[in-house]
Amino acid sequence: MGRGYARTVRADGPSAASGLRLLGVFAHPDDEVFCAGGTFARYAKQGVEIMVVCATRGEAGQIRDARIATRRTIAAVREQELRSACDRLGVRHVRLLDHRDGELSDLEFDSLVGEIVAAVREFRPDVLVTFGPDGGYGHPDHVRISEATTAACFAAGDETRYREQLAAGLAPHVTSRLYHAYFPPRGMLLMQRLAQWLVGRDARFAGSPEFGYALLLLAEQTATMRYIRDHSQVRWFPAGCYVLEQGEPSDGLFLVLSGSVEVRQEDPAGAITLLRRLGPGEFFGELGVAGQRPRSAHVVAAEHLTCLVLTPAAPESFARRAKPTRHAAAPMETEALVPASRTPCAAASAAATAAALPTSCQKKRRAPSRHAERLMR
Ligand SMILES: [Zn+2]
Repeated sequence: MGRGYARTVRADGPSAASGLRLLGVFAHPDDEVFCAGGTFARYAKQGVEIMVVCATRGEAGQIRDARIATRRTIAAVREQELRSACDRLGVRHVRLLDHRDGELSDLEFDSLVGEIVAAVREFRPDVLVTFGPDGGYGHPDHVRISEATTAACFAAGDETRYREQLAAGLAPHVTSRLYHAYFPPRGMLLMQRLAQWLVGRDARFAGSPEFGYALLLLAEQTATMRYIRDHSQVRWFPAGCYVLEQGEPSDGLFLVLSGSVEVRQEDPAGAITLLRRLGPGEFFGELGVAGQRPRSAHVVAAEHLTCLVLTPAAPESFARRAKPTRHAAAPMETEALVPASRTPCAAASAAATAAALPTSCQKKRRAPSRHAERLMR
């Protein structure tokens, strides 16, 4: 919502807002929430009468939860979600145009505009809200509904357009303001923000499976909207594989979804100490990301492992590596990165560690470094 409308309503106060009408026109159920949900809730509370027109039932949308819908039922489920959302937001009127999801661009443009003009002439809003020309993130239905609604905003007040509606008793209506939803790209790194939060905590964080799923969805959707620039993926590692290697660049944050890992620190002489074991819901890699320094320890899959991985960009086809001589020449500063209160440590000998490491599942193909050779011996 633009500032002009916000200023108008605020200056007049809630009671004066009564009588104002706000119309939102969107392509799919859920567009109304992420485009203007906060705006609708705010102005509904101030007495503004709000209507949402939705062009489709969203039947082509992704079904994430198999317990909630099938391809057969998705249209009805999403319509109900639209109505429930509008109810919670204080939107009093919902109208479905019942076009097919994904096919708005195939419709005859003037016909689609005419349907929106009819809604405008009936509801007679003071303000219209729809997508901007970019459709939020380029969805063709969003782009089309933006074009059609923008055209309808001007056509509704023109008595020479859609005269059959006027003959049927509707009057032309001029909407005083049209707003396009705009999503400013921020390019934020979610992994950096998460890492800073994690290292600032007094105790290690452990999230539920629901937390992991919510974080995955958040990362995917906010990346789609260009709010963040992280690349998110779910990766699987067989038991015994290196996930991170001490000394390599810190270019990712990991959340364990299933399985467990061992965090092992190697001293300049090659001796290995087991720092901790981490399981589902726990992050690793945050120390290097937050401090923008190389990995301070090895992380090895203790059993078959699934992780959500956030990286600044899609993984490269080759991995950058610390030089094999790094540990001997420049011992890692690790003590400050491993608070004693968080490390229920158990010592593990280099021999025991080596025995647990198969040689065939190195995460990245390369000639073994000197310390890797020691581990594999
Ligand atoms: Zn949509």
